[in-house]
Amino acid sequence: MKLFTHKDPKKPIYNLIYIFVGLTVLMVGYFSYFLIARSGEVINSAYNKRQDILSERIVRGSILSADGEVLAKTVVDKDGKETREYPYDEVFAHVVGRYSKGKTGIEETENIRLLTSNINSFEVMYSDLIGEKSPGDNVVTTLNAKLQQVAYDALGNEKGAVVVLEPSTGKILAMVSKPSYDPNNIDEIWEELTSSEGGKTNSQLVNRATQGLYPPGSTFKVLTALEYVRENPDYVDYDYTCEGKTKYEGMTIHCYNNKAHGEEDLEESFAKSCNTSFATIGKSLDLNGFYSLCEDFLFNRSLPVTMESNKSSFTLQTSGSSVKEVMQTAIGQGNTLVTPLHNAMITAAVANQGVMMKPYVVDHIENANGGIVKTYSPGTAAKPITPAEANIIGSMMRSVVTDGTATKLDNLSVEVAGKTGSADHAENKPAHAWFIGYAPYEDPQIVVSVIVESVGTGSDYAVPIAKKILQAYFE
Ligand SMILES: [Zn+2]
Repeated sequence: MKLFTHKDPKKPIYNLIYIFVGLTVLMVGYFSYFLIARSGEVINSAYNKRQDILSERIVRGSILSADGEVLAKTVVDKDGKETREYPYDEVFAHVVGRYSKGKTGIEETENIRLLTSNINSFEVMYSDLIGEKSPGDNVVTTLNAKLQQVAYDALGNEKGAVVVLEPSTGKILAMVSKPSYDPNNIDEIWEELTSSEGGKTNSQLVNRATQGLYPPGSTFKVLTALEYVRENPDYVDYDYTCEGKTKYEGMTIHCYNNKAHGEEDLEESFAKSCNTSFATIGKSLDLNGFYSLCEDFLFNRSLPVTMESNKSSFTLQTSGSSVKEVMQTAIGQGNTLVTPLHNAMITAAVANQGVMMKPYVVDHIENANGGIVKTYSPGTAAKPITPAEANIIGSMMRSVVTDGTATKLDNLSVEVAGKTGSADHAENKPAHAWFIGYAPYEDPQIVVSVIVESVGTGSDYAVPIAKKILQAYFE
């Protein structure tokens, strides 16, 4: 059977042989060269040396947003000089990271991927042999550039952090920390950033979203209410009369502005963020149960994230904790500390029927031609509560927006559920303003966690920032 007809039947076969021989020579040449000159170095070298060797052969890949924006790229000038550029300047500094002065963020965690080329291996070989660099793989993140910019602008000149994530997957859509710095100029501004006068007092290098430890204030009532509901199946019968303050052994706990909230059930106490009600609830709780609940929510544990993060802490013990500390802790003061990312994860567990997903920021790796090299999948971090418990707290968080301290969010096109917080942190300084929440209430797509340092109430300072983010996402 004749498969091909050619005018000159010998010619294509010769061509094929030439190509084949050519490739074989190229491959043998390359592998000999690699074995002699490269592999020993690459295999035996320490991490730093290995990346130096890789960077001699590879032009570092780009970091991209989920919506295709370039967040970091390497530009090569006509003399071959490479410059790492960050088109968004300060906006993504902490989450994307920097390249110089000690890599951080995605620049650090994905370093080897950015220095690995998965384009056609013959192209890599050829480039290598003729002494040219190959393009490294690109890291495509879960970040939404538009949302990040909105969150960055909404924080204005305040210090603080914003985390936006997708509760069903754990995808981080935005992560802002302020004050920030411009990673394009890191070498020039390094001294100032690390000097005791300017830099250290502002802690610009710290990613407040993952490393900043703050008292949770009334956002912690989510967990206090959960423990109460768990211990008291008749929680709907809860009845308390708030007189604006409550005393215990010389300690007074006030409601905001000493406002007397009057008679209230649990949902009303939660919606109005009644401190005296929750401090009183705290006294009734089984501290072993409360401690386990908080540990199930990953307090006192490392968060399952690739980025540098601090552990939140919850220190109440059955023995050794005073009643005063218990009352303070129940309203989010005391010794409890939480990061904005962790508070987003707690909210996401409520929004996602009790399942807390692992937050992640890298969606997939592409080669320079756009071919997929590796895709990252969502993973479960914890299942701290049942779907029924999540629904009970979710409905209380909804009432915060319809009838409580976050009614500023009640005129949006989407139904929001959330909790405000105003966390005291120092004498004679305004509170840290918090808001945690999710939307749409019936079918949660995003979780927002906002903290603004030392400005006042969550209702006045954090809720308006959350509102801008929710508007940008849904409207
Ligand atoms: Zn009250």
